[in-house]
Amino acid sequence: MEIKIVKTTNLKEKTKEDALAFGVHFTDHMFMMDYTEGIGWHDATIMPYGPIELMPSSMVLHYAQEVFEGLKAYKTPNGETQLFRPQENLKRMNRSNERMCIPQIDEDFVLEALKTLVKLDENWIPNSPGTSLYIRPFVFATDPFIGVRVSKQYKFMIIMSPVGSYYKGGMAPERIYVEDEYARTVRGGTGEAKCGGNYAGGLAAQQKVSTKGFEQILWLDGVERKYIEEVGTSNVFFLIDDVFVTPSLSGTILPGITRKSVIELLKHWGKTVAERRITIDELYEAYQQGRIQEAFATGTAAVISPIGTLGWKDIEMTFNNGEIGEYAQKIYDTLYGMQTGNVADQLNWIVKI
Ligand SMILES: *Cc1c(COP(=O)(O)O)cnc(C)c1O
Repeated sequence: MEIKIVKTTNLKEKTKEDALAFGVHFTDHMFMMDYTEGIGWHDATIMPYGPIELMPSSMVLHYAQEVFEGLKAYKTPNGETQLFRPQENLKRMNRSNERMCIPQIDEDFVLEALKTLVKLDENWIPNSPGTSLYIRPFVFATDPFIGVRVSKQYKFMIIMSPVGSYYKGGMAPERIYVEDEYARTVRGGTGEAKCGGNYAGGLAAQQKVSTKGFEQILWLDGVERKYIEEVGTSNVFFLIDDVFVTPSLSGTILPGITRKSVIELLKHWGKTVAERRITIDELYEAYQQGRIQEAFATGTAAVISPIGTLGWKDIEMTFNNGEIGEYAQKIYDTLYGMQTGNVADQLNWIVKI
């Protein structure tokens, strides 16, 4: 399939790099293609960023048949543009698509489209420390029909947003609360898919913890309410007795690419990683015995978020004196260093554009 390119005649003003927030500003162009049953994907176009037309009956607006991804482009010190493991995002998108009955995308074609789009809007990639260009591919059901069934038409799009440093004053440990009322997902549900509905369902819990003075939620499993699953929209690691413990991918946890990269990196460093089930009671017991050395969350947005305090009922557990742990810092420096071309890419994770 050819990609038609319609360039904007009206280049936008760029925001100053120190004023960038997350996901507020968008670049000059976007990518869009359509799917029609019996035809497949067609009309791949890069066009000026702007509003799209949808029928009010579009199925996504009623039943949330939708999937998204998130990855970043970075500038290196010599001005090259690079991506971090983009094939992993497209593979995951197809796994999410399968769960949501959305047709598969051609991963090689979409990677080419993504690279073409990034290249075109390359001068939107910020380069002060901590900044990057966030890339959001997404696909949604557009059938103008309000019965509940699988849609026969879809749109796939990519939009891009220059984002500021996740931490305003450098990396800082966060306050996390263990959610024991709401559940994110259950076995057999859609927790493993990066689909919009999962996040709408989590908003009430997010609102609740903010009023308690915490920044994020630690989700427990939805059935027994005791196994640790994830932190907000990131995966979680605990360093206990020199072993990096992270919940195993049970079907309810989003398989993070940062999670996978952290596991591979730690193993590359000769560290022991245990992907296993861990209960909140086991964690608290280890905490009381002083065996927890560090806790941190992993995800594309922040790379590493150290967990300073974990609130659970009326207990507050503080890890590593509420300071950034040695490994949280080391992993952050290595991954972000590779992403920005300041640390050698020994594991072949970087794709240059
Ligand atoms: C996206 C996401 C993650 C992190 O995945 P990365 O690929 O590392 O960015 C973790 N949990 C949830 C619920 C997510 O949506």
